[in-house]
Amino acid sequence: MANIQALRGTKDIYAPEIAHWQQVEAVVRDCLGRAAYQEIRTPIFEQTDLFERGIGEATDVVSKEMYSFTDRGDRPITLRPEGTAGAVRAYIERKLFAQGGVQRLWYTGPMFRYERPQAGRQRQFHQVGVEVLGSDDARADVEVIGIATEILQKLGLKNLSLQLNSVGNGEDRQRYRDALVEYLTPFKADLDQDSQDRLDRNPLRILDSKDQKTQEIAKNAPSIIDYLGDRSKAHFEQVQASLTALDITYTLNPCLVRGLDYYTHTAFEIQSNDLGAQATVCGGGRYDGLVAELGGPETAAVGWAIGLERLVILLQQLAEAPPSTLDFYVVSRGEAAEAASVILAHKLRFAGFSVELDLSGSAFGKQFKRADRSGAIACLVIGDHEAENDQVQLKWLQTKEQQTLAQSELLANIEQWQQKISRARQA
Ligand code: ATP
Ligand code: MG
Repeated sequence: MANIQALRGTKDIYAPEIAHWQQVEAVVRDCLGRAAYQEIRTPIFEQTDLFERGIGEATDVVSKEMYSFTDRGDRPITLRPEGTAGAVRAYIERKLFAQGGVQRLWYTGPMFRYERPQAGRQRQFHQVGVEVLGSDDARADVEVIGIATEILQKLGLKNLSLQLNSVGNGEDRQRYRDALVEYLTPFKADLDQDSQDRLDRNPLRILDSKDQKTQEIAKNAPSIIDYLGDRSKAHFEQVQASLTALDITYTLNPCLVRGLDYYTHTAFEIQSNDLGAQATVCGGGRYDGLVAELGGPETAAVGWAIGLERLVILLQQLAEAPPSTLDFYVVSRGEAAEAASVILAHKLRFAGFSVELDLSGSAFGKQFKRADRSGAIACLVIGDHEAENDQVQLKWLQTKEQQTLAQSELLANIEQWQQKISRARQA
């Protein structure tokens, strides 16, 4: 029988790449923790209906990309293609709004979309996202954009650009929609097929068509900014002034739109110049209409999602995986020594060291080679002689210095050993 392989568009993530994932997760957790966001973990599958209403049936995600099936109880179910719908469903169902004030939530995990796999585009991929629910203040928009840029900055990523737009409120958009259709109609025959179909249903989406000819035409379309009412304009100006005050540079991009009615005001993307076609690492904006659309109380909200695969690609371009954090590699040979080595490794781990035990039983020479490759700071060696005398040899792997100790000495005065190890790691 042929070996079973991972499905197209899915990946196993393991060492050394996994270290970059852990690095991203640590930075995300740290930045969001310091900004007082609470993690929320929602189910990976939900009723299909949630995504149809929450993302919109006219979108590519819902019309072409969802992993949907009926379960054994004939329920229509979908593997989540994004995180906002589930978070908002939980916000409504768990009555988080009843706690009053603003809810700041974040999530991370796998998402599923049936797409053509390419670098930075998979069928199972991962996002981290935030949702701030219950504030229509422009400062909330700025806060979430600021946190996204902080995360990317703390990861050391460069060559990023923030694209910014406002899609106003429902009324602004209706006026703009009319103007846009009037502009596009004479070019209808030159638009790509999808865009022709959207001209009646969802003309704003034509602006972010990937088709070159359509893009040329869209370039000269009227700009939504010119159709914003006074309040929308004030909101957008406040966002821009605040970003400028924070030294966060941005480019206004009037083609950055979301087609659906519950998207309001700020829309933004952060793109990288180092990712080729899949350039967007972060997409977000305001969605003041979504909570009500899904049956909750009128609630203003703003958020974003970052694609983690794309971050990891960028990190891999920057540097090799972060170095090992192993303290000791334990080597032993002979029955008594092997028995002693398990106990010593266990006690050292319990005391707070990171320890790898060689289980091979092979010749010392081979075990030493593995110790060198392990990235450990020091090797602990137990042979027949050491086992008999409750001793251990400690070999510092960088300097090759060696000393013989009582095993108990390693466990006494742990701080001193930790200091020695961290000095050796920095050397
Ligand atoms: P794209 O235009 O690249 O398809 P999108 O508009 O569908 O992106 P969003 O739904 O806004 O993307 O998701 C936010 C982020 O999640 C994207 O900017 C991207 O970094 C990441 N992302 C989306 N789809 C995928 C995928 N199939 N594989 C890997 N990452 C993805
Ligand atoms: Mg997409």
